[in-house]
Amino acid sequence: MLMKIRRLLLKGGTVVDPAAGRNRRVNVLVENGRVTGLARNLSARGAEVVDCRGRYIAPGFVDLHCHLREPGAEDAETVASGTRAALAGGFTRVCAMPNTDPPVDSEAMVRFLVGRGESAGLARVHPVGCCTRARQGRELAEIGGMVAAGAVAFSDDGNWVADARVMRSCLEYCKAFDKPVFAHCEMTGLDTGVAHEGPVSTRLGLAGKPDAGEAAAAARDILLAHLTGTRLHLCHVSCAATVELVRWAKGRGTAVTAEACPHHFTLTDEALAGYDTNFKVNPPLRGEADRRAVLAGLADGTIDAIATDHAPHTRGAKEVEFDNAPAGMVGLETAFSLGYEALVLSGLMRLPQFIARLTAAPAEVIGLPVPRIAVGAEAELVVLDLREKWTCDRDKLVSRSRNTPFAGRTLVGRVQGGILPGGRMWGVGAD
Ligand SMILES: [Zn+2]
Ligand SMILES: [Zn+2]
Repeated sequence: MLMKIRRLLLKGGTVVDPAAGRNRRVNVLVENGRVTGLARNLSARGAEVVDCRGRYIAPGFVDLHCHLREPGAEDAETVASGTRAALAGGFTRVCAMPNTDPPVDSEAMVRFLVGRGESAGLARVHPVGCCTRARQGRELAEIGGMVAAGAVAFSDDGNWVADARVMRSCLEYCKAFDKPVFAHCEMTGLDTGVAHEGPVSTRLGLAGKPDAGEAAAAARDILLAHLTGTRLHLCHVSCAATVELVRWAKGRGTAVTAEACPHHFTLTDEALAGYDTNFKVNPPLRGEADRRAVLAGLADGTIDAIATDHAPHTRGAKEVEFDNAPAGMVGLETAFSLGYEALVLSGLMRLPQFIARLTAAPAEVIGLPVPRIAVGAEAELVVLDLREKWTCDRDKLVSRSRNTPFAGRTLVGRVQGGILPGGRMWGVGAD
């Protein structure tokens, strides 16, 4: 899939600089994996030339939240298949959630995952370690050892850390290592439904999960983050009440960041009318007011990052009754296009701001240097065609799983390829 190119000229494109918030029409010269030239009329004899006229060049995207399913559910996804799907969607780095089987709750497991990522040699894998042993919410996991092995954050994703004493000590531990805690917010006792609790769940006869369950859990975690002074990151914010809490917390000086997923700002619970299990996700698709509040939160910066919560499941797992189906949908390959349409084409934000939600903002959450396309920097970038219209075809997904609710939908804007560290190119010009 990757082709190593020693000298490459990306000609005639527009470079998006999300850190500076602007676009520039320049040619980009990449030699031995580094950007060595960035100028309007730059040419380079003997270089491989990629015609980028009408295209945009941006830093590679960073996904703060995906499930690679390895070890334990390799029939749904592996590190190799998931990181290949990531590249297809423009993500050159992905944070892998630890709810595998066994869970990533030890130094050895983090090393295993880093090794799998390195041997796949595709998108870079940044493991997220468990907060608690076996994600059981009782004793803290080996946080220090996991940091040493390369864990960038800690989370019991899939579960909320229900015991406030355990969450407090997890935050205190993570503060000592300057690592954020990623919270999956669902208050115990309000977490048993399968759809957003409201008129639609009542009409469809589905057990409801109220927005209050997410917001109440987020409120507790925000207050504990304030108390301990630890960085807290809220996963998959899905409702208006949580957006308001994050806005309040940021105004108060709490070190909180938040992510939102494309499905939560492009779909509502009305999509459940056909009981298609590909629309079943956790947190659930909510109402129109929530969807709009998440968009507004992204537009004003209350929500920092766009993350996929890519959650592959096999066809067999999803082909059951709605109540029994596992929650989750694949998202790596559609996130950019869905976000582009909902946020940029709609006029809510400009392109560099949108790209920042996929690059600079998530990089900052996990302490990576700000991704930039600059002379002297390692080339890690994507080539985007914002005019391309394409139809999401379940059978053409790169991911090993097919559980997308967007099959058949026409999307605008597409990632055409890019360059990884070391001058390895995929997509446009490479195959
Ligand atoms: Zn979650
Ligand atoms: Zn998740």
